[in-house]
Amino acid sequence: MPPNYPSILRQIAEAVRPEIGKGKVAGYIPALAKVPPDKFGIAIETVRGEQYYLGDADERFSIQSISKVFTLALAFRLEGENLWNRVGLEPSGNPFNSLVQLEYERGIPRNPFINAGALVIVDILLGHFSDPKAALLDLIHNLTGQDDIHFDEEVARSERETGYTNAALANFMKSHGNIHHPVAAVLDVYFHQCAIAMSCRELARAFLLFANHGSVPATGERMLTSSQSKRLNAIMLTCGFYDEAGEFAFAVGLPGKSGVGGGIVAIIPGELAIAVWSPGLNEHGNSAVGIKVLEMFTTLTGMSIF
Ligand code: GLN
Repeated sequence: MPPNYPSILRQIAEAVRPEIGKGKVAGYIPALAKVPPDKFGIAIETVRGEQYYLGDADERFSIQSISKVFTLALAFRLEGENLWNRVGLEPSGNPFNSLVQLEYERGIPRNPFINAGALVIVDILLGHFSDPKAALLDLIHNLTGQDDIHFDEEVARSERETGYTNAALANFMKSHGNIHHPVAAVLDVYFHQCAIAMSCRELARAFLLFANHGSVPATGERMLTSSQSKRLNAIMLTCGFYDEAGEFAFAVGLPGKSGVGGGIVAIIPGELAIAVWSPGLNEHGNSAVGIKVLEMFTTLTGMSIF
């Protein structure tokens, strides 16, 4: 018997209601600071195409670092295992925008999900595409079937105007020879990828790729080998939540990825993808309510990868 998802979602929403609106929205990006903190949505889509959702599940928000999974998928598809000469595979144990570790490790980022790692992935994409931003949107349109998903230019501009730390990371890696293209070009793609606006339902649909072993359930199109898909899930599990990755694996036990827009997407291989949006963040930059929702979800359904 599959779990009764509608009833489980209602139960979760009831339990987290008092927490909604608490926590801090990402104030360091001015355009994100304007998002009402009491937004709340959940969406589930199974590999068989069943959909369950509630709250603001159709409202688009800034996916921020969740976009790093899409750029990594593109780069992995093109570069295969060569990728790991330029970026590592270990959890960072440090904040997502940390500069310290990068200095110790001579410009090779710990993993592709911290900002430094995502910047290297963009640099790799610039070597393959004349327009990586268009390639990224193409991938997302393909995964979701929604051709109107786009960059929120106001968010992209806001990030560019305040993105001094990301500029520092890119320049530092350039000085170590691990950024090959102009820093301005890398940052432009990075700020745009973070500024993609998607809803919970669209994110859940897109992440089915990783739940379905590298092919898109709706069309059957294979985008990643099943080994690549497995490896991407391993990186999500170990690095998807920065210096909270251990706690997330402990409390939730699923591969996933968060963003400072307050979104989290997680997958159960072979079964489903689930996306949550609640903009209030904890001290690690992850959605506080989002984590609670996912913890309750795996507890109530008994589902886990372990
Ligand atoms: N655009 C954000 C930044 O670069 C992404 C951070 C995140 O979502 N963790 O700081």
